[in-house]
Amino acid sequence: MRKPFIAGNWKMFKTTKEALEFARDFRKLYRPSDVTVAICAPFTQLSALTEAFSGSGVKVGAQNMHFEESGAFTGEISADMLTEIGVDYVIIGHSERRQYFGETDETVNKKLHQAFAHNIAPIMCVGEVLAQRDAGQAFDVVKAQVEGGVAGLSADQVKHLVIAYEPVWAIGTGRTATPDQAQEMCAHIRRVIETLYGSEVSEEVIIQYGGSVKPNNASELMNMEDIDGALVGGASLKPEDFIQIVEF
Ligand code: PGA
Repeated sequence: MRKPFIAGNWKMFKTTKEALEFARDFRKLYRPSDVTVAICAPFTQLSALTEAFSGSGVKVGAQNMHFEESGAFTGEISADMLTEIGVDYVIIGHSERRQYFGETDETVNKKLHQAFAHNIAPIMCVGEVLAQRDAGQAFDVVKAQVEGGVAGLSADQVKHLVIAYEPVWAIGTGRTATPDQAQEMCAHIRRVIETLYGSEVSEEVIIQYGGSVKPNNASELMNMEDIDGALVGGASLKPEDFIQIVEF
């Protein structure tokens, strides 16, 4: 049985003061259930958040990480730096990082290997841009991203991988994929994993949908067979919105 997993992606929002206010208010609303919940915050908020959420069941994730152990990589953050402060998850290959910061399937792949080597659970993002969907290439694009991302990972690692399908045209646009569109692609991703690793692995992989998930559309998306969770941007910034998605 796959456990539902709702993760917030705060992107470049919130100071530490604002993050702590969120944690305080969200803890008042949140009741642990069989849904895994995480907040993926900017690096400077992670330490404060792991402390503020300690004992609540809410997990904390980073939004990126470097693939090397350490070294002369100005501005980068290593896996050790994240595990030291109790970070559980890391988003890898978000489309904004692919679009603005040169992330490729190859760097995504290296980062996944590094995350698993340090026991940080990666959330690998994949998704097509609008022109690719309009050209009928969405399924091939996503397949190539998944295959490139997981290259060389063991079956056991892939069982613990989270994949977030985020069509780029649905991110921050208010234009959510329909539940059928999202289901169709999440099922496709599961088949790609099945072809590579077999059904025992593909049945365990958690696949999230992301892109304008809101309190009013979360349950419809979550009810689809191959959608196990959501990666939530804008609607994760307010405790009263995010709790409604968590309690879909
Ligand atoms: P959005 O962002 O919910 O604001 O569309 C989703 C994401 O980029 O992870």
